[in-house]
Amino acid sequence: MIIYKFGGVSVKDAAAIQNICQIIAKVKRPLTVVISAIGSTTNLLEELIDAYFSGSDEAWKHFDILKKNHISVLNDLFEEVPEHIASELNALFVELETKISKPSSDQFNFEYDQMIGFGELLSTTIISAYLNETGQKNQWVDIRTCLDSDDNYVDANINRESSKEKANAKFVNNEEALYITQGFIASDDKGYTTSLGREGSDYTAAILAHLLGADKMIIWKDVLGILNADPDYFDTTTKLDLIPYHEAIELSYYGARVIHPKTIKPLQAKQIPLWVKSFIDPSQKGTLITKGEQPQPMLPNYIVKKKQVMVNLKPLNFSFIGEKDLVFIFSLVTKFRIKLNFTQNTAVSFAFCANSSARNIKELIDELSKKYEVDLSDDLELITVRHYTPATIEEIQNKHHVLVEQKNTNTAIYLTVAN
Ligand code: ASP
Ligand code: MG
Repeated sequence: MIIYKFGGVSVKDAAAIQNICQIIAKVKRPLTVVISAIGSTTNLLEELIDAYFSGSDEAWKHFDILKKNHISVLNDLFEEVPEHIASELNALFVELETKISKPSSDQFNFEYDQMIGFGELLSTTIISAYLNETGQKNQWVDIRTCLDSDDNYVDANINRESSKEKANAKFVNNEEALYITQGFIASDDKGYTTSLGREGSDYTAAILAHLLGADKMIIWKDVLGILNADPDYFDTTTKLDLIPYHEAIELSYYGARVIHPKTIKPLQAKQIPLWVKSFIDPSQKGTLITKGEQPQPMLPNYIVKKKQVMVNLKPLNFSFIGEKDLVFIFSLVTKFRIKLNFTQNTAVSFAFCANSSARNIKELIDELSKKYEVDLSDDLELITVRHYTPATIEEIQNKHHVLVEQKNTNTAIYLTVAN
C-alpha cells in the first residue's frame, strides 16, 4: 500500500483537482489518498463556528459562502453535474445546516469538532466522485469509521490499538484498490467527530501508513521538497535531498512549516519512507525522510516564527521563581492549550513566547496577572538555526535586533524584534 496526502492548496479549485487526479492516475494500486479541505475552507469553518458559538447570525453568512465555493468547484469540474453527486453533496450541506440551526452547548471544543470536519467531508466527496466519473474507480471511506480517538476535542489522540483492525478491514490491500479519505478527523467512543489539531492531515496519513504497514508515504506540496529555509523570508534556499527521521522531528518541533510535528514518529516506528514532492512538478525528486545520520546536503536550516508575543513574569511578592511557580504556570498553559515556542527562566523571572494569535492567550495572561507582574512584548520573531555556523550567527546578529539568544550544540534560537 502507498499513502498519498494532498493539502488544501493542492485541491484549491477545479484545475488543481484535475491536476492531482492526473498524479493519482500514474501510480500503481493499492493506493490510499488522504485529502484536506479545499483551499482555506477550514479557516472559513472556524469563522462559522465562532459565530455559531457566540449565537451570531453571521454563521449563516459563512455557511452560504462555504456552499457557494463548493458548488462552484463542482460546476467547474463537470459540464453537467450528475444527479447522485449533487445530492450527496447536498446531504452534507443539510447536515451542517441542521447543526447550525440548533442552539450551541457551552462546550466550545466539542461544538468545534462537530463542524470543523465538513471541509474534508466535502472535498473528498467531490474528488472521489470526479475520479469515479473520469474512469478512476475508487472507494470513498469515512475515516471516522476506522480511526478511533479519545475525546480530547480539538486535539484528539488516536487509539492505535483499536484503530488497527478497523483500518485494515477497510483499506484492503488488493491490486486494484484506490481509496479516498479525509485527513484531520476521527471519532470518539460515543461516535462523535473529533479533530486532530490544525494541519492534522499529515498526521492522519502517517497514522494510516503505520496501521496499514504501508511501503511509503508521499506528501504533495507546492514546493520542490523541504528547503533549508522558508522562501517567503529568505532569498536563497536549497532543497534538502534527504533528512533523517530524528532530524525531521527536530525541524518540525522548532516550527518548520512543511510537516506537522506528530507526523514523523509513526513512520519512523515502522521505518516507512516519507517523500515530500511537488504537485506542480511531480517529475522532480523531492525530499526523502528516512533513516540516516545526517541531512544531505548538510546546511544550516532556518526556521522563522513571526508574530510572537513574549510574556515575562515576576512574582508580585518579590520572591524567586521556584518549582512551584513553574508547575502553576505550566498547568495554566496546559489548561488554556497554549503552545509555548520558547521559554527562559532566571532567578526572579520566567518568560515564554507564544503565537500572538493563539486562541485563549488573553485569558491566560489575565489569569497569570493575578499572581505575577506581567510584562508583554509584541511583534517579535523567533529565528531558529539548526546546524548553525559562526557565519550564520554573525549574519543574524547583524541583520536583527536580538533580544535573547539560546544555544546548544546543534541549535541556536534568537528572539528578535521584527524588522
Ligand atoms: N484542513 C485542516 C486544516 O486546514 C487540516 C489540514 O489541512 O491538514 O488545518
Ligand atoms: Mg491545510
